[in-house]
Amino acid sequence: MSETQRLRARLTGQAVAPKCPFCGASNWSVSATPMILPAAGDDGALIPGQGYPVRALVCGGCGFVRTHMREAVEPANPDAAD
Ligand SMILES: [Zn+2]
Repeated sequence: MSETQRLRARLTGQAVAPKCPFCGASNWSVSATPMILPAAGDDGALIPGQGYPVRALVCGGCGFVRTHMREAVEPANPDAAD
């Protein structure tokens, strides 16, 4: 099972709408590497060393980028998902 197939199965299982909110396409590619969304304080300043681990999904129709927390889209043991 490809990473994209795993992702689609995970999102579908969580009742997340798989269609892009802008163009309606449902083909998403997954970022090759995890990302960190930086955390900011109430004053808007970045908090060094804090952030949220996410995966970026890119719409194959229009290029819209969405992010999901890694634990929501990645199985704890990828080998077990095959
Ligand atoms: Zn789109």
